[in-house]
Amino acid sequence: MTVANAITQIKQAIAEAEHTSHRPPGSVSLLAVSKGQPLSAVTRAFEAGLRDFGENYLQEAEAKINALADYPIRWHFIGSIQSNKCKAIAHYFDWLHSLYRSAHAQTLNDARPKDFPKLNVCIQINLNDPNKGGVSPHDAEALAKTIVHLPNLHLRGLMLLPNPTQTTSALYSDFQCITDLMHHLNRTLHTDMDTLSMGMSHDFKTAIQAGSTLVRIGRSIFGKRA
Ligand SMILES: *Cc1c(COP(=O)(O)O)cnc(C)c1O
Repeated sequence: MTVANAITQIKQAIAEAEHTSHRPPGSVSLLAVSKGQPLSAVTRAFEAGLRDFGENYLQEAEAKINALADYPIRWHFIGSIQSNKCKAIAHYFDWLHSLYRSAHAQTLNDARPKDFPKLNVCIQINLNDPNKGGVSPHDAEALAKTIVHLPNLHLRGLMLLPNPTQTTSALYSDFQCITDLMHHLNRTLHTDMDTLSMGMSHDFKTAIQAGSTLVRIGRSIFGKRA
């Protein structure tokens, strides 16, 4: 299947999931995860109309972002953050989905070039998975407060990377927990978070049922990674 055909199919599946979940058409946006894919895959997806691309590895991302500097692409960092990479992330990206340490928030804020728009950030939540990053729902409030006070960051929402081996109903309740948490934080902190970054190739329909506003799709668009 070509990248363009795959994108048409995914958009159709997103529209169907919006419909069956009684969500407004267009309420879920599509982030193409291009990690492990060549530059030509990104340009094909761009030509098919996509403007948001997600990358996990900084070196690989920098090469693509530099090569495509003339393209009006929004680049999203979705990988795990190391302290010594914060400066480059703040320089190269429009969005960051995987923030969960307040020290990183501070470093990213200080490194964001002053003439750039604010860096959009989502807090990565961890629901009891010792092998993954993320902050517990309980500690999310303190981190959200920290981020809100940093002038070069814009707190946009929450991100979840669920345990993929769960049943569909367990996945659904994990996603729902993140949706409820964002609404709870918006009420208590008077924030205006609007992004629930949840759902990948294998579980995006469940994520949309539970309120996802942004799905991160790699393999179903581009096929296997290198
Ligand atoms: C790789 C990755 C994705 C995309 O996963 P697919 O299964 O290829 O759709 C989404 N989110 C994160 C954080 C990833 O690392």
